[in-house]
Amino acid sequence: MTSDACRELRAALGAVALGGADPAEALALRAHLDGCAECRAELRELTSVAAALPLADPSRAKGGPTQPPSALAKRVLGRVAAERTARRTRARRRIAAVAATSAAIAAAIVAFVLIVPGNSPSGSRVVFAPHAGVSAAATLRSRPAGTEVAFHVSGLDRGDTYWLWLTGGDGNRIAAGTFRGTGTRTDLVLTAAIPLGDARRIWVTDENDNVVLDQRLPPPA
Ligand SMILES: [Zn+2]
Repeated sequence: MTSDACRELRAALGAVALGGADPAEALALRAHLDGCAECRAELRELTSVAAALPLADPSRAKGGPTQPPSALAKRVLGRVAAERTARRTRARRRIAAVAATSAAIAAAIVAFVLIVPGNSPSGSRVVFAPHAGVSAAATLRSRPAGTEVAFHVSGLDRGDTYWLWLTGGDGNRIAAGTFRGTGTRTDLVLTAAIPLGDARRIWVTDENDNVVLDQRLPPPA
């Protein structure tokens, strides 16, 4: 069975076989190899391939070899490079996911203090936890056409397009509208075609559908 751990380490196997693994990689690999016969077999195979290559020394591969690399050498080096890139991308995604979760937790804590629930004439007020230089507040009011959102935001990139969404209890997102960042404070009134009592989340995305602001709404009392 090839586990996620195996896949993560296969790139390092190539580097070890070519003599180019960094010490931290080599250490993690050694620990894994002790318990994984499949990866041990893979390393043996790669090492025998690497030994047959004139380019097993990666410094020669980088610095301009005296003779052109064989097709096999190119393939092996290409594979190592590709897998390293993939591994770094996965690591970055994990870090981003952790950061996003932390931001969401921080936002939720703030929300409990600052949201005034209910359908009073003054509306439900939401203050977003500031995030990456963007701060915002919203007042939600029940209207025949849906939920009216009076939205005050500052710190959005000038000229960029943003979307304001409400998400209902069914998980579907309903657009309240689009607007442009001004670089300074902007006041908007937008309406989403969803009853205020159904709204569970208010959030803003940028042109690439990245979440810029995000706030959970309490269920109706
Ligand atoms: Zn393994």
